[in-house]
Amino acid sequence: MADEFDYVIVGAGTAGCVMASRLSEDADISVALLEAGGSDLSIWIQLPIGYGRTFFDPKINWMFDTRPIDALGGRTSYWPRGKVVGGSGSINAMVHVRGFPHDFDDWRDAGNPGWGWDDVLPHFIRSEDHDLGVSERHGVGGPQHVTDITARAHPLCRRFLETGRALGFPISPDFNGPDGEGFGIYHINTRRGWRASTANAYLHPVLRRRNLALQKHCHVTRILFEGKRAVGVILRQRGRERTIRARHEVILCAGAIGSPQLLQVSGVGDGAMLQHMGIEAVQHAPAVGANLQDHLAVSYFYRASVPTLNDQLRPLLGKASAALRYAFDRGGPLSMSVNQGGGFVRSSPDAPRPNLQLYFSPVSYTRTPLSERRLLNPDPFSAFLLSFNSCRPTSRGRITLASPDPFVQPAIQPNYLATEVDVAEARAGTALLRRIAGTGPLAQIITEELVPGAQVQGDDALLDDFRARADTVYHPTCTCMMGSDPARSVVDASLRVHGVDGLRVIDASVFPSITSGNVNAPTVMVAEKGAAMVRAYRRGTTS
Ligand SMILES: Cc1cc2nc3c(=O)[nH]c(=O)nc-3n(C[C@H](O)[C@H](O)[C@H](O)COP(=O)(O)OP(=O)(O)OC[C@H]3O[C@@H](n4cnc5c(N)ncnc54)[C@H](O)[C@@H]3O)c2cc1C
Repeated sequence: MADEFDYVIVGAGTAGCVMASRLSEDADISVALLEAGGSDLSIWIQLPIGYGRTFFDPKINWMFDTRPIDALGGRTSYWPRGKVVGGSGSINAMVHVRGFPHDFDDWRDAGNPGWGWDDVLPHFIRSEDHDLGVSERHGVGGPQHVTDITARAHPLCRRFLETGRALGFPISPDFNGPDGEGFGIYHINTRRGWRASTANAYLHPVLRRRNLALQKHCHVTRILFEGKRAVGVILRQRGRERTIRARHEVILCAGAIGSPQLLQVSGVGDGAMLQHMGIEAVQHAPAVGANLQDHLAVSYFYRASVPTLNDQLRPLLGKASAALRYAFDRGGPLSMSVNQGGGFVRSSPDAPRPNLQLYFSPVSYTRTPLSERRLLNPDPFSAFLLSFNSCRPTSRGRITLASPDPFVQPAIQPNYLATEVDVAEARAGTALLRRIAGTGPLAQIITEELVPGAQVQGDDALLDDFRARADTVYHPTCTCMMGSDPARSVVDASLRVHGVDGLRVIDASVFPSITSGNVNAPTVMVAEKGAAMVRAYRRGTTS
């Protein structure tokens, strides 16, 4: 590989694959895409339900652990992140949710011109090849396929929807459409029964371009600065150190943990922390790693009097029949996420916006820890789960260096439930799960609440249970937050790092605030818009 390119992109994850594909559309520029992990050619990555297997696979997963979290009784939390081409988009649950228009209007109103809903919608549409066809909200012919599984979802999902209706909630035909509020069925990123990560959608189809070089097993250890200008990166590849120079820009797409860590080990971070670590400061940037936001969810498990996915996936014969079905038409449970039903609802009618996200999965895992995600080994009886998380938690955590060594995991402090608003929403969400389980069509088929169990009664006991069991849904964001004030944010509205030149961050870390739902689709949007900005800047059409 050459050692000088126009653009050097760090991280071939969800955002990095979009960036590399879009930037290399201009044949006269050269792009290097550097990824710490290896190939995504694995059946467990490509088979949709395979994400149960990749969850704990150290060959393709960074496998982070957080620091003890006070509000969760001092528990730590396991945070899987993809270390592989496709990044976390190669190991995620594929649920495709953009968030609500107000999420992006909030981004704009926080001092980020150009990031309101009307500004970002064209970038969402451009990324899509949607089963629902073209409309004001959706596109076809874009790189990433979105599958509408409504007709194929497990029959129990219908009871979930009917229960929502019985409780007076609207039914949403499309969480990404104009009526996104209510109970509904999630759309997912698959194409013809295979995972549609951005690696599959954007990168693999263009890897033959002569101006694009993907380099795997390249752990970038430092950004190279000349004065305050980023001019390249230093990396370790199979034990060898190399320098790759960037003629135009270095673009960090290393994700919400990797990007702030790389900035910090390179001397862009809080001055006192850098000094403490013995790192020479390039730029005092106190907001690097600060402002971390994530969704924190809890699941309730119910034994059912009718068959659930457990009955299909647990027995050997059931597995064989699911595999046959998949081989026959790429359909059946192996072609989907287990997160099939869900919702975006208000905890009370006077809540100004939907503030709780719901999941309904026709499957349960009470015999193995949920964190192990034995998707193909559920409980040996009929059961299902209901979960919720706050849409827009207000607590903010932090990522700081634990060592100046770039190979040492940083210290992750999610700081969940640090605000009264978040605690109040935890209370409201647990009460809502009980109401859902106690109502009409679902109540009729529930024979027992397995977890937390009928003995847990009352607001305070449910909150204690939440503190004891709630966990991440793997959506860290905001650690290189976008904003206009360098004291409080890391990048400006053009995604350039404040105070230095030639360096942008373009991934989930730049969200000013976490969006109301799953964060992969908005990360794709950020990368589509980021790529458009980088290309316009090179052509001299923007400053
Ligand atoms: C188990 C799981 C389930 C999820 N489920 C969903 C879901 O259903 N729907 C949804 O919307 N979202 C989901 N998410 C979240 C979503 O996948 C991520 O938010 C999204 O992929 C983030 O994209 P990114 O580009 O910011 O980072 P990533 O996709 O994580 O990419 C970062 C890339 O940078 C590489 N990298 C990091 N550091 C370095 C370095 N120093 N040198 C070189 N390379 C480096 C990494 O290996 C990785 O490939 C899930 C995530 C997980 C882990």
